[in-house]
Amino acid sequence: MSSVVVSNYAGSLDIAAIRAAFPILSTTVNGKPLVYLDNGATTQKPQRVIDTINEYYTRHNSNIHRGVHFLSQYATDAYEVTRKKIQRFINAKHDHEIIFTKGTTDGINLLAYSFGKSSIQPGDEILISAMEHHSNIVPWQIMCEDRGAVLRVIPMNEKGELIMEEFYKLLNSKTKMVAITYISNSLGTVNPVKEIIDAAHQKGAKVMLDAAQAIHHIAVDVQKLEVDFLVFSSHKMYGPTGVGILYGKEELLNAMPPYQGGGDMIKTVTFEKTTYNELPFKFEAGTPNIEAGICLGAAVDFIESIGIDHIAAYEEYLLNYATEQIKQIQGVRIIGEAAHKSGVLSFVIDGTHPYDVGVLLDKMGIAVRTGHHCTEPVMNFFKVPGTIRASFAIYNTKEEVDALIAGLKKAVMMLL
Ligand code: PLP
Repeated sequence: MSSVVVSNYAGSLDIAAIRAAFPILSTTVNGKPLVYLDNGATTQKPQRVIDTINEYYTRHNSNIHRGVHFLSQYATDAYEVTRKKIQRFINAKHDHEIIFTKGTTDGINLLAYSFGKSSIQPGDEILISAMEHHSNIVPWQIMCEDRGAVLRVIPMNEKGELIMEEFYKLLNSKTKMVAITYISNSLGTVNPVKEIIDAAHQKGAKVMLDAAQAIHHIAVDVQKLEVDFLVFSSHKMYGPTGVGILYGKEELLNAMPPYQGGGDMIKTVTFEKTTYNELPFKFEAGTPNIEAGICLGAAVDFIESIGIDHIAAYEEYLLNYATEQIKQIQGVRIIGEAAHKSGVLSFVIDGTHPYDVGVLLDKMGIAVRTGHHCTEPVMNFFKVPGTIRASFAIYNTKEEVDALIAGLKKAVMMLL
């Protein structure tokens, strides 16, 4: 896979050079070259991210924010550089609007708890959609139960698109939060988030975007979107696991109480009363995942070295090619045929179970994900036990799509 010809791709990316930056891509699995198509679950890491981890522990390891010594100050600066890089990457107004979390799930839990406590009264409504990841369902269910609020769900159609007329019917003056995925992890649908944000704001509701599947595929500009909150995970954007980001507008974050208590989030502590630190530290209790925070900055550098718009264009080409090719396979049913999609091709094959197909593909060195993808309501809607999901990243190639199609044909022959 070293020299990759990308026919029909009008751009000028050197995919072979990009692949060379990912050491894991040259490994073999079950004696076959690895074809990694499970990027929706997590992406592989480029050498510069791996090197940054190594360098941190070799030369800079120290706790941050509290030390006066060289190493502590060095680590603090490096960690805070990532905050600034993320601010620039998503075009936030202030760096203190960038809160480090453990990941998307952690960010949504923080928001549901803290926003719930400050802003939700019995009878208020939270709107989510039919295609949410469990991470964007359960925290809101817990909060609604706690606060006596009501969770409402925007339905979708058979293509896996939100039914916008129903959204407008559900949105009302009791709606306090619309928490919605930017791109569906099991269908690939890109939702009309700007329209949703504008409509929600007109009713006085806030909007949280789950950008876990968007942040590394398309340009995200929080000021242009005017979105109130946005969450994502480092590990899905070529960075390390264990760190993620919650973005929130300054005035909204300031109005929310802390989620967790401990070191770093305080100004003063006595047994009688504690005063809380300012943003962003109010929401960052305890020693964070310093190494991952620093390395997330290296992941942003990697994305910016290619350009998010180039990434979006190339991945769109790959997805279109894969969608076209998969239709050759008899009995394939694509789950999720929205007009606007990104990154994900989910499907089932008549007479086969997704798990069996996944196991056979693995024997050929092809990594896909099978199952409900943490979106059980989506599987129930489409009346399937799960899907086979191929999800793409910038290092995937047309040849890998061909390998997937050939592998699927073989698997089908073996199973039917
Ligand atoms: N939301 C979406 C759309 C996802 O795809 C995922 C992970 O697959 C999550 C939330 C949860 O992300 P994490 O497990 O990194 O917290």
